[in-house]
Amino acid sequence: MRTPRDFDIKFIKGIGPAKAKLLEEELKIKSCHDLLHHFPSHYLDRSQIYSLRSLSGEMPAVQVKGSFITFTTQGEGAKMRLVGLFSDGRATIEVVWFRRIKALKDLYRTGQEYILFGKPQEFNGRWSMVHPEVDPPETAGAAQGLRGVYPLTEKLRNRGISSRNIFTWVQNALAATPHIPETLPAHLLERYNLMGAGEAIRTVHNPRSTAALQRARERLKFEELFYLQLNIQRYSNRRTAAVQGFRFSRIGRFFNNFYSQMLPFPLTEAQKRVLREIRADVGSGRQMNRLLQGDVGSGKTIVALMAMLMALDNDKQACLMAPTEILATQHYESLRSLAAPLGINVRLLTGSTRKKERAELHEMLADGSLHIMIGTHALIEDDVRFSNLGLVVIDEQHRFGVMQRARLWSKNTVAPHVLVMTATPIPRTLAMTVYGDLDVSVIDELPPGRKPVTTLLKFDDQRMQVYRSIGRQLAQGRQVYIVYPLIQENEKLDLKSLEEGYDVIRETFPSYRTAFVHGKMKPSEKDHQMHLFATHQADILVATTVIEVGVNVPNASTMVIENAERFGLSQLHQLRGRVGRGAAQSFCVLMSKRKIAADTRKRLELMTSTTDGFLIAEADLKMRGPGDLEGTLQSGIPFDLHIANIATDGQLVQLARDCASSILDADPALSHPSHAMLLPELQRLYARRLDLSRIS
Ligand code: ADP
Ligand code: MG
Repeated sequence: MRTPRDFDIKFIKGIGPAKAKLLEEELKIKSCHDLLHHFPSHYLDRSQIYSLRSLSGEMPAVQVKGSFITFTTQGEGAKMRLVGLFSDGRATIEVVWFRRIKALKDLYRTGQEYILFGKPQEFNGRWSMVHPEVDPPETAGAAQGLRGVYPLTEKLRNRGISSRNIFTWVQNALAATPHIPETLPAHLLERYNLMGAGEAIRTVHNPRSTAALQRARERLKFEELFYLQLNIQRYSNRRTAAVQGFRFSRIGRFFNNFYSQMLPFPLTEAQKRVLREIRADVGSGRQMNRLLQGDVGSGKTIVALMAMLMALDNDKQACLMAPTEILATQHYESLRSLAAPLGINVRLLTGSTRKKERAELHEMLADGSLHIMIGTHALIEDDVRFSNLGLVVIDEQHRFGVMQRARLWSKNTVAPHVLVMTATPIPRTLAMTVYGDLDVSVIDELPPGRKPVTTLLKFDDQRMQVYRSIGRQLAQGRQVYIVYPLIQENEKLDLKSLEEGYDVIRETFPSYRTAFVHGKMKPSEKDHQMHLFATHQADILVATTVIEVGVNVPNASTMVIENAERFGLSQLHQLRGRVGRGAAQSFCVLMSKRKIAADTRKRLELMTSTTDGFLIAEADLKMRGPGDLEGTLQSGIPFDLHIANIATDGQLVQLARDCASSILDADPALSHPSHAMLLPELQRLYARRLDLSRIS
């Protein structure tokens, strides 16, 4: 019997080769299976018909019944629209179409009864619907109750493909391939009372009731998360078994001398705990793969240094990789001053390291006289060869792709220990998914004496007041950041507002020195400008978000973020972390237009009410969805979920993780007859990605 997987959609009634090609291009739908897994994004209640008089602006899409009185075309060229006057006998509305006007004019008749389905809108006291679904009463979904709304792309819509079409094709696909194979082991279905695969698929497309729909969605979400976890855990188990790690058996003079004599400050309890976790990992004989999360300013650098000292005590080299030259340089300077008194050779390698010095560094790396190498991407260039690399620290890892991490790894026959540090707090459920195979340590405590940054929301008309406060900070010898959104989609406009902002600042504060940085600058110019600010040769830095990551200027006490409404929460939090690094009270001013959407305002107000990075990350995930967050993390581990939502399905993520791990514990090879479907399904889902999940 044919299964949905081997049934090409071009043979589905109503689709055909041309539409099949379009569906593949736009939605990656090739087989019936793909089509059946194209789930509605939401559902509309089609059980009621409203009278035109009862319409209100608060309504979602509703059904109305009546007939068209007239059709007229209005406007010209691109502005042309078709307007149908529609009446239910007691009131009228206008029905408006902007596309496919010719075809529609021939399609609908006046005087004939139709059911319209769309969102009512009021304009100047007149009601209208734009591009509603139009059906003769006998074929309308009125009797159906809940109706799924299918996600479409702009291009598909322009080609006249509607959610309704997808619905019909899905029905035809269900008829063509009635047998949907089960993809979960029977014992899981039974134990968690999950709906079977076939019933779940049929139910999401044709819900009988909200309760049934809920159960169907739960089953499908679980399945998705379960396979994701199974894949992650299977490869991490395999790696743990297969990959040898260096055993750092000694804690020796480097670590001990540093700890007893040279610590510049007492470690926080959280820093100590994380060091114990790292110590246990590197002593175990297995390769460490640890993610160290700690809010900006929580003191990850010293932890990294002490982990590197453990490597040195065991005659291994260590390296630290940072995403930008300026950051690498800062790390180099602070680590060298800490480590040099111990006789440790710390060096820096970046894109701008001269050829002669490079050769010298390569030599020292190879003969083992170089102990700690700090650098940028330059470290993963092919000709960099360590003689005995034992630990790789990657700072602010979201700027590094998985592939780049893989290349560092491949520099050894025995995999070095890996410590990935990030200041972007990752909510637990996302960490479990994206970094399912990394152990996670958290520094959840700031060094003592820090004053939390005071955050204010100000509107454009309060700018003078903001400038006065900046003036006061500058007068006290403090430095100020002024941040603009990244130059992006509308490059010209963004650059213009940045440059104008720069001019205004210079005019407003003529007696202060100003530096200016944006992402489109040459790297050397950028570094020069950053250097001016870092060394207090400039008082004000006007910049785009290039400064987001890691720059440490403790004397900077104020940050103004322009167009704050355009930033995501996590990004605002990262930016804000640049201030509040010294002893002085620091400020972060979020500037915004007064007219902003309610949820944007909520977002900005959350920033003013908390400095807790985890809380902000959770909220960000809920508001923006994991896709976006993942984008900013650039975690590099590709996953796309059709129905589960990492942000809101936390409990299911946990359950899926537990189920996957207990199955793998009991049946590591997945060879038990009740697990027969697991390997083939994993293969189908993740074949492309196997190599990737092995890394990091
Ligand atoms: P991040 O975690 O953002 O990388 P850093 O490692 O740069 O933070 O530390 C931020 C600042 O806090 C640095 O100036 C560092 O010297 C200081 N610091 C780190 N740990 C402590 C501590 N336990 N007590 C006091 N200051 C500390
Ligand atoms: Mg840091």
